[in-house]
Amino acid sequence: MIGPIFGTVVRMRVSTGKATQSDGRMFTVVVEGFGVGLQRRAERRLTVPFGQLQRLMQTIALQGGQIRAINAEELPAGSATQAPSTDAGSEAPAASTTPARKAPVSHADVPVNLYKPKDPFIGTVIGNYSLLTEGAIGRVNHITFDLSEGNLHYVEGQSIGIIPDGEDANGKPHKLRLYSIASTRHGDNCEGGTVSLCVRQLQYEKDGSIINGVCSTFLCDIEPGAKVKITGPVGKEMLLPADEEANVIMLATGTGIAPMRAYLRRMFEPTERAKNPDYQFRGKAWLIMGVPKTPNLLYEDDLQRYLAEFPENFRYTKAISREEQNPSGGRMYIQDRVTEHADEIFSLIEDPKTHVYMCGLRGMEPGIDEAMTAAAAAKDLNWSELRPQLKKADRWHVETY
Ligand code: NAP
Repeated sequence: MIGPIFGTVVRMRVSTGKATQSDGRMFTVVVEGFGVGLQRRAERRLTVPFGQLQRLMQTIALQGGQIRAINAEELPAGSATQAPSTDAGSEAPAASTTPARKAPVSHADVPVNLYKPKDPFIGTVIGNYSLLTEGAIGRVNHITFDLSEGNLHYVEGQSIGIIPDGEDANGKPHKLRLYSIASTRHGDNCEGGTVSLCVRQLQYEKDGSIINGVCSTFLCDIEPGAKVKITGPVGKEMLLPADEEANVIMLATGTGIAPMRAYLRRMFEPTERAKNPDYQFRGKAWLIMGVPKTPNLLYEDDLQRYLAEFPENFRYTKAISREEQNPSGGRMYIQDRVTEHADEIFSLIEDPKTHVYMCGLRGMEPGIDEAMTAAAAAKDLNWSELRPQLKKADRWHVETY
């Protein structure tokens, strides 16, 4: 049975949050003669936040593109953001700023497929280091690419594709693999023009031998200076709400922490906060993170720093599967932590400002559903009816493999 909170009333109460990623207005630049290959012949429309507008115009000017128009999105009544200056140099024609539509509630402003597999962006590796400490299982690396020569930009929660060098067993070029982006839109140096990934080397046994994953091994072994084919960005499932007062529950296994790392930097990293005057997070962020062993914890120093600096806003719960046991004596997984805290998590979910993000192994999903089913039932609510409502309200975000 559905109760009063999520029942008939809920269809009005489940909030969509502010799902656009705008820091103020978004701008669509209509350009000709810009890009590579066929792109140069077509008129293209590139949509960027104000913070990236000047840089985009400079890139266009440098590459000889011609800007035909710049259309600004109208802000909702009552919000006051200064109009952009369009002083990117004489190459850029004066902007025709058409007050267009209202700020969309959809994800229309998020960049997607700026670079496709047939014409990928060529990024340069500028960093590659292990995230693990002594005694960890396997290899997990943090890898950063320079994007400064093109127009590949993204927002937190998106993914990029990597096309590894070489050919498959049939002599064909390798297909792309998608990786969740681990950096914020400003990159790790907060200056823009970079993207970072958190990659575990895939290893499995087949017919008695160890097989290494093609792309993950390519990335974990890659040296600074190497050129890499990058596509994307893609994905609108894992976007962070623009609401600074949202509650954000993050459930991650292993490298599934990648998008969460980007969210947490955006929320708590001092340089990021300085960069985003319109996003001074003051909600509650709760990360529940699963790894096999303590030395496999990822970005631990940063997370501890956020805990120390933002004790009212950040909570961090670990499930260290091979060092801790669940109540049945099995490995401690994040769904066991969700069960432990189910009532609290469920109460948070009842708040329309709360978003839940899940990233990592698909195997965690049934356990999380079970915990939520029990917590809902305790309130006479039916989780199998609530979950689709949360999903529809854009508050339940899942990206699991
Ligand atoms: P990992 O280190 O192998 O595992 C992370 C933790 O999850 C370990 O403690 C592991 O426990 C535990 N675990 C294993 N089975 C589980 C289950 N059924 N339910 C809950 N926890 C379970 O992780 P990883 O190699 O980084 O892999 C993470 C996965 O996330 C990969 O499949 C990767 O493809 C995926 N991923 C997805 C995205 C995305 O969707 N955007 C992004 C990044 C990663 P034990 O090993 O001790 O059993």
